[in-house]
Amino acid sequence: MGRAALAPPTMSTPSPIERYVVIGNPIAHSLSPAIHARFAEQTGEALSYERLLVPEGAFAEHARRFFDAGGAGANVTLPFKVDAFEFADAASERAAAAGAANFLAARGARIEADNTDGIGLARDLETNLGIALAGARVLLVGAGGAARGVVAPILERAPALVVVANRTVSRAREIAEHFRARGAIVAAALDAIPAERFDLVLNATAASVHGEPLALPDRALQAGALAYDMAYGSAADPFLARARARGMRASDGLGMLVEQAAESFFLWRGVRPPTRSVLASLRGR
Ligand code: NDP
Repeated sequence: MGRAALAPPTMSTPSPIERYVVIGNPIAHSLSPAIHARFAEQTGEALSYERLLVPEGAFAEHARRFFDAGGAGANVTLPFKVDAFEFADAASERAAAAGAANFLAARGARIEADNTDGIGLARDLETNLGIALAGARVLLVGAGGAARGVVAPILERAPALVVVANRTVSRAREIAEHFRARGAIVAAALDAIPAERFDLVLNATAASVHGEPLALPDRALQAGALAYDMAYGSAADPFLARARARGMRASDGLGMLVEQAAESFFLWRGVRPPTRSVLASLRGR
């Protein structure tokens, strides 16, 4: 699975600017190139970061071509996070726990996978939104790749309880079973959520991006708690409007996107970029 190591730069050939991409389908909407361009500007790192549209079912072939041509790293989004994990020669513990990767890096002859979504969410909640996860009661709605990727970092912070609820309850049960040893986590069907007072309700379903209503009972949305939709921009509006109407604080997932990008940038470049200013500028403030 490996690729030839890059030839070391010589005095007469200045080292080329390292190339990064975000791979997905669709990908035209991705904000990642703009985010990484701002990080590069603010840290003085010279790199290029572009979108790479890959046909469904052809991830490995296109990723191989990119890395064989000297590509330094890739972020990976829908629907390829599992393919990215399987493509890599080695994976971090957090990618292995999620069974999905949003990050690939060429390290010598190997391609290494990681998953920065979970730490991105945790940083947005803790640093940008001032939420303490320790002791919190968390409702995690959804059981796809995004939900799976955030469970371990949430449980690491010792919440009182995580209820993972999903339309297809068997997928929620799989997650609860998989992470059981790491903390207090139980599964529920979307229409049978236990009557808890949740401090944080995370929408990790694709309902928002599909423009579909989320069949979540109102009693799960209680005044004073935070509702967080991992989708961002106008896609998140219906869920956030519903939460605000119930007296909740509400946030979309733009901060998570910026924070996972910052973690990726750090893993590739060894430099931690500023995130608050980038998030503020993306929000137009
Ligand atoms: P997946 O396709 O892996 O999972 C989709 C999940 O949504 C499943 O649990 C599915 O339930 C559920 N779902 C889909 N439609 C509905 C519906 N109408 N009602 C109830 N449940 C529904 O997607 P991901 O996990 O990769 O992504 C989920 C969301 O998170 C997306 O909006 C994505 O954009 C966002 N995301 C944001 C990130 C960020 O940085 N802000 C990072 C990663 C993801 P079922 O199992 O029953 O089909």
